[in-house]
Amino acid sequence: MAGLDPRITDASSKLFAEASSLMPGGVNSPVRAFGSVGSEPFFVRSASGAEITDVDGNSYVDFVQSWGALLFGHAHPRIVEAVTAAASKGTSFGTPSELEVELARLVVGMVPGIEKVRFVSSGTEAAMTGVRLARGATGRNKIIKFAGCYHGHLDSLLVAAGSGVATLGIPGTPGVTEATTADTIVIPFNDLVALQTAIEAAGNDLAAILIEPVAANMGLILPHDGYLEGVRKLATEAGALLVFDEVITGFRLGPGGAQERFGIVADLVLLGKIVGGGLPAAALAGSAELLDELAPTGPVYQAGTLSGNPVAMAAGIATLEMITEDENLYGRLQERARDLVRGLIDAADRAEVPMVAAAIGALGGFFFSGDEIEDYEGAESTDPDVYARFFRGMLAHGFYLPPSRFEALFISDAHTEEHIDGFASAAAAVFATP
Ligand SMILES: *Cc1c(COP(=O)(O)O)cnc(C)c1O
Repeated sequence: MAGLDPRITDASSKLFAEASSLMPGGVNSPVRAFGSVGSEPFFVRSASGAEITDVDGNSYVDFVQSWGALLFGHAHPRIVEAVTAAASKGTSFGTPSELEVELARLVVGMVPGIEKVRFVSSGTEAAMTGVRLARGATGRNKIIKFAGCYHGHLDSLLVAAGSGVATLGIPGTPGVTEATTADTIVIPFNDLVALQTAIEAAGNDLAAILIEPVAANMGLILPHDGYLEGVRKLATEAGALLVFDEVITGFRLGPGGAQERFGIVADLVLLGKIVGGGLPAAALAGSAELLDELAPTGPVYQAGTLSGNPVAMAAGIATLEMITEDENLYGRLQERARDLVRGLIDAADRAEVPMVAAAIGALGGFFFSGDEIEDYEGAESTDPDVYARFFRGMLAHGFYLPPSRFEALFISDAHTEEHIDGFASAAAAVFATP
């Protein structure tokens, strides 16, 4: 497959060399360096719809979509227009604007069980605030998280954190003290017995159970039937808050995210990625009673210079409005996600390559494995080199997949049937290449 790469990458290589002398690994977020797929990143010149074009002029059908931040593809005219209009009126005020009220109204109207939101600038901040609020509101300390679930790079949660950390094989990370993670309990996903045991061990000091309802940072792993119901029940019985990290699933599984999809209401919801429409915005959401524990109404401190940034709010509003206006959107997205995965599985079957795959909402995922994968241990047991070869082969055919086997495939409304069919054909060609 290595000899198959027809791309000219001179301009990207040159930029990467300079970038590497100026920024660690040449990037500002580790997985972008393509290290785990044995390659070098392409540098983007521009992107439109489902396609992304690099500085050497190569175009790729993009199944990363800014790691899921884009539901309508790159540079959607309506979002660009909203951003441009907002920017022309001022890019940051540090004082309230109507746009925050508008986006908050939309979020509260779409996400089940919530009454108030606090906007922040990244999913990491939303998780950090959520953990602090859960501890502040309950007066308890311990947090249960799940191996392979990722909640951003806050210190206390950087234990068995999937995605970038898993890709790099960093067990937690240097720089985080044992004291910082001492109140973090890590257990396997999809295992209610382990959860029960962990809850018992935490005694009456459990503040929250924090979970990605659909795990999308260790590949894509769906919750077993009844699992989330069980988690909800155990959290309630333990007097702990259930925090759904819907930074990926929010507005991707449906307008109401995983809560709506599975009919389960969490106590706190973390939103990010799509809620900012491709700009830096994220949110913590929940009941008025809980959210009012945050300063200035409550004692739990949290703040941000660029929180509720007008340009980001405008992008979020345009995105959520497009979601509410199109009642066929998620049916269409789900169908494409299923077609994508089905085409891939068929190609793998024909080539006798062992593969399991899943699709839900506008998310797809696959593992090179003959067995079902249901937790991080399973995901980790898959062969990184097999994924890396497939990644490079697909890139050579003009399809950009996540540069890590621990990420999901992101489908946008800009992906057409041709893109989906092309993906399957390219996969077949890659499998056929010795
Ligand atoms: C991306 C992600 C985060 C972190 O969001 P950032 O904006 O990258 O800080 C948190 N939780 C989940 C589930 C994510 O996928």
